[in-house]
Amino acid sequence: MIQLFIPLNFLGFVYREIRRALTDLENMLGLLQRKASIVDAPDARELQLQQASIEFRDVSFGYQAERVILQQFNLKIAPGQKVAVVGSSGAGKSTLARLLYRFYEINSGQILVDGQDIRSLTLDSLRRAIAIVPQDTVLFNSSIRDNIAYGNPAASQQDIDQAIDLAHLRHFIQSLPQGDATLVGERGLKVSGGEKQRIAIARVLLKRSPILIFDEATSALDSQSESAILTAMREVATGHTSLVIAHRLSTVVDADLIVVLQQGKVVEQGSHQQLLTLNGYYTELWALQQREQQADVKE
Ligand code: ADP
Ligand code: MG
Repeated sequence: MIQLFIPLNFLGFVYREIRRALTDLENMLGLLQRKASIVDAPDARELQLQQASIEFRDVSFGYQAERVILQQFNLKIAPGQKVAVVGSSGAGKSTLARLLYRFYEINSGQILVDGQDIRSLTLDSLRRAIAIVPQDTVLFNSSIRDNIAYGNPAASQQDIDQAIDLAHLRHFIQSLPQGDATLVGERGLKVSGGEKQRIAIARVLLKRSPILIFDEATSALDSQSESAILTAMREVATGHTSLVIAHRLSTVVDADLIVVLQQGKVVEQGSHQQLLTLNGYYTELWALQQREQQADVKE
């Protein structure tokens, strides 16, 4: 019985390993295929940056042909403006960020940066102009310092130190066995979601791009860390054009414009005060989250 059990168990192990390798390969192929489909046009030009305005003009997009995510989507972000996109999970918020960074090609319409269609630009010049704090930050198997400097390999120690302070990472780094030389990532120290987001914010600070995207950048933080990071984000975003994707509305009350997205469509837009007077979906979300917050405080 024991003799039979071991080989079967072993076979199960081999089977799982092979299946996992195949899944990894498939994932990789999917990624490669997508990467290969997005390349510079033969006559691609460098982005001529002016003040970093952004426009989505009649944009339609679906990850698969049979399922449309955005239909005739329009949004203008003026230079230096902070525009927030809110809405329930699956509404298409992160998709907007991915499209602006040109991870995917749109089906129709145009995305313009300073009036230039991003399809006519070199990917390199476009992506240099945009810095993203993503929903899930990936850390490399390297030191925490390398992970931060990844935003700008040419950054000086002084720049890196400043980014560490602004992203409120100093305390965390000082608590590590080897300070900023401590290894993190899959094979190193495990880092919490909140710490990862701060590392991502430090990267963005170092990259110094004129366009900033924060995709639920504070979603993994408790409310105390959140308010610290929000202050840092506000400092960073001053003078930059920024797109802030948020689940928690309290993080975007100060935005110049708030766009409420529902199933890929803009259902309401305006400032926080304007949206509240509409007494619609936004007001409902706001009331709901205020109640949740009060419940949290009481706990
Ligand atoms: P949000 O950020 O508002 O939560 P997303 O923009 O991530 O929403 O997703 C919008 C819709 O697109 C969702 O229905 C989601 O399931 C779908 N989607 C997101 N990424 C992919 C993908 N890589 N392939 C297929 N569908 C996707
Ligand atoms: Mg998202």
